[in-house]
Amino acid sequence: MAESTLHPWDRPAPERAGRPSAYALLPADFAALGAPGRSEHIFTQCQHPWAWVEGRPRLSREIREWMASSLDTALPEILERHASEDGSTKVVLGLADGQRIEAVHMPREVRNPRVTLCLSSQVGCAMGCTFCATGAMGIQRNLTAGEIVGQVLALLKELGPEKPHQITLVFMGMGEPLHNLEHVHRAIRVFNHPQGLNISTKRITVSTSGHVSGIEKLAKLAPRPWLAISLNATTDEARSAVMPVNRVWNLARLRHALAEWPLGAKEKLTIEYVLMDGVNDTVEDANRLANWMGPLRETHNLNLIRMNEHAASPFKEPVEARLEAFVARLKALGCFVTVRKSRGRDVQGACGQLIREESRRR
Ligand code: SF4
Repeated sequence: MAESTLHPWDRPAPERAGRPSAYALLPADFAALGAPGRSEHIFTQCQHPWAWVEGRPRLSREIREWMASSLDTALPEILERHASEDGSTKVVLGLADGQRIEAVHMPREVRNPRVTLCLSSQVGCAMGCTFCATGAMGIQRNLTAGEIVGQVLALLKELGPEKPHQITLVFMGMGEPLHNLEHVHRAIRVFNHPQGLNISTKRITVSTSGHVSGIEKLAKLAPRPWLAISLNATTDEARSAVMPVNRVWNLARLRHALAEWPLGAKEKLTIEYVLMDGVNDTVEDANRLANWMGPLRETHNLNLIRMNEHAASPFKEPVEARLEAFVARLKALGCFVTVRKSRGRDVQGACGQLIREESRRR
């Protein structure tokens, strides 16, 4: 297919001399490529960055030389770190072709130390949600699986944690992950592999704007991560205005896809709702939201998020009294509702604020 007929999000990242990334390979791939050593061992060493020596996996010279000649072993480079006063860090990563992405490292101490990594799946985003800074950038390209895994390894190498069971991954950074399902899912297979980071699918969440065909495809894949939906409005008219994806898959179609999602034991869907002052924060909205959720309201998480204001969007966070009335109405209607505390707001690292710096300056 000629390059010009591809959508920007279909365009693959430039490969380095056609070499696959060492970090997107599973043990069977190392074996198939003729690695001179035990493929499980090579995979494990590649996926445990805190054990690396001089920035490289701890492997014999023979294997390292084979990797250097056969694979792309470069990680995304950490170019900037912006520490928030709440303990989270927004990280700007540089890719091989000069593109930049952002990710957020969010430690939290609840009962046990845990770190949530908020990951990007694309450079920019094609979905055009009007409240989101990434949406204002437009789309440049998809990330490869190697870049997605490399993003995690680069963060773990620099910022930890060193214990894989403390890691939670959320695809809530730049991009619509279901627009890049093939590479996102390959990365999930790598993260979930027992000889790698072995991150349970319960601790991997893919958040979508409501890309229904992607939801239907993801529902059939194994391993299957947990799903979050960014909803943000309660009528088709209002949702189409803030999230153009609704013109393709409306609220009823999205609701149907969620009802068909094959829930595992104890699995919950998360419905995210960004509250914007005067846009979607009335008691009538709360009534419609509870009605749309139907039976899901008693079992699934409804996460309310105050609009994180930024220069690329006219929307404001709601006044406290409206937020409280909204929450009270949802609770009265039987919804399991939480108000999510946004992390990294002061460094423009909160939900909807991620954008390449040069785009922000423009
Ligand atoms: S909210 Fe998500 S899907 Fe919408 S424009 Fe932003 S990054 Fe893309």
